[in-house]
Amino acid sequence: MNPPQTTPRQSAREIFDELEEYYDEDNLYYQTISSVLEAADLIDLPHNVKLMLSQPKNEIMVHFPAQMDDGSWQLFKGYRVQHNNLLGPYKGGMRYHHTIKLDEVKTLALLMTMKCALVRLPYGGAKGALKIDPRAMSPRELERVTRRLTAALGNNIGPDYDIPAPDVGTNAQTMAWMADTYINFAESSRKVTARGIVTGKPLEFGGSAGREKATAQGVVFVLETMLPGIGIDLSTQDFSLIGYGNVGSWAARLLQAKGARLRAVLDHTGAIFSKNGIDAEQLATHVRETGGVAGYSEAQAITESDFYSTPVDLFIPAALEQMVDLEHAKKMQCKVLVEAANAPTTPNAEKHLLNKGVEVLPAILCNSGGVTVSYFEWKQNRLSETWDESVVDERLKTVMCRAAECVLETAARLDCNLRQASYATALERIAKVYSMRGVFP
Ligand code: GLU
Repeated sequence: MNPPQTTPRQSAREIFDELEEYYDEDNLYYQTISSVLEAADLIDLPHNVKLMLSQPKNEIMVHFPAQMDDGSWQLFKGYRVQHNNLLGPYKGGMRYHHTIKLDEVKTLALLMTMKCALVRLPYGGAKGALKIDPRAMSPRELERVTRRLTAALGNNIGPDYDIPAPDVGTNAQTMAWMADTYINFAESSRKVTARGIVTGKPLEFGGSAGREKATAQGVVFVLETMLPGIGIDLSTQDFSLIGYGNVGSWAARLLQAKGARLRAVLDHTGAIFSKNGIDAEQLATHVRETGGVAGYSEAQAITESDFYSTPVDLFIPAALEQMVDLEHAKKMQCKVLVEAANAPTTPNAEKHLLNKGVEVLPAILCNSGGVTVSYFEWKQNRLSETWDESVVDERLKTVMCRAAECVLETAARLDCNLRQASYATALERIAKVYSMRGVFP
């Protein structure tokens, strides 16, 4: 075993200087690693572990051509960032978005490492992306680019090495195309296990019951564990949502079933509000049919600014990063910020909200239900088993409640906020395994 190398406190800036890396205070990756390194100092994380976690192990970028339905050709850019695989194979979603950049993918990969360590899954962290607007493409075009992307990634992914999953802009169909492409390349003796290449597959093709709603279900389990401690009864709460895609619409439906009331929603098409509450099911149907919340007749259209200032108990960002900045935070009137999306809050906004007495439930805890049920799917694929939804939900509940309790325990022990406690809990696990495994050679 290597002797532990403890160091004095060290800011992200000092670490980046040491790595001769560029930094910029507004850069999402720099902000996220800064926050992780703050937590690292609370637990005296060894210097070599801080360095190793400050950069992903691999940053893969691929370019490939694909033909559009009109016969024209386009060149596409794909990413797979593999942040860390100390605890197991790299794991994380594939995002399809037209503004995606490498630093965003790096941030999301780092958060996957933290998330998997926090909820004790045998996985490291990764994230992939394809720079396209999936809403502007036909199903046939999406299939072609997905298959080409999978082929371009080649052996950089694999069921024992790096396992993609759905994320923003992708879904079970995307995963089915990825799996089918990968299986076609696999040797005949490995075709059965090759379907474990991705999780979040359709139920009929090796998917898991409960995977689609898993992220939102995890959010609900976290709320049920955390809210009573701060004197809040979930069944009487009003909430608002940013985003009405997979996570947002499932969170709305599951929270509504618990008695909570949806007041306002903001998405890429506009913002809506109803003082009597918005029916989560009806809104889901409207969004499926029209592509967004705008034009929903049972609620009134409001401005983005009014959306942020709508008083609610729970404010739930469930879309992209940095959707809550300082200006938004100044307007917000909520008791709890529930981070269902990855990295939705800028550091300044978080500081402001904490000073205002808002409880911030951090993303790596709140949204880890998705990857947890991904793990259950991967395990079912390996065991050739099919679990009922009730079994999945029960096991998810155990994992989420245990993680939430660990975070509360760490926050009390280190006298820190919940984000720092979540990172510290994850980092303690990672540090322990590094100290046991040592660093090769
Ligand atoms: N994309 C999801 C996330 O950010 C799920 C990842 C997975 O299931 O591997 O957590």
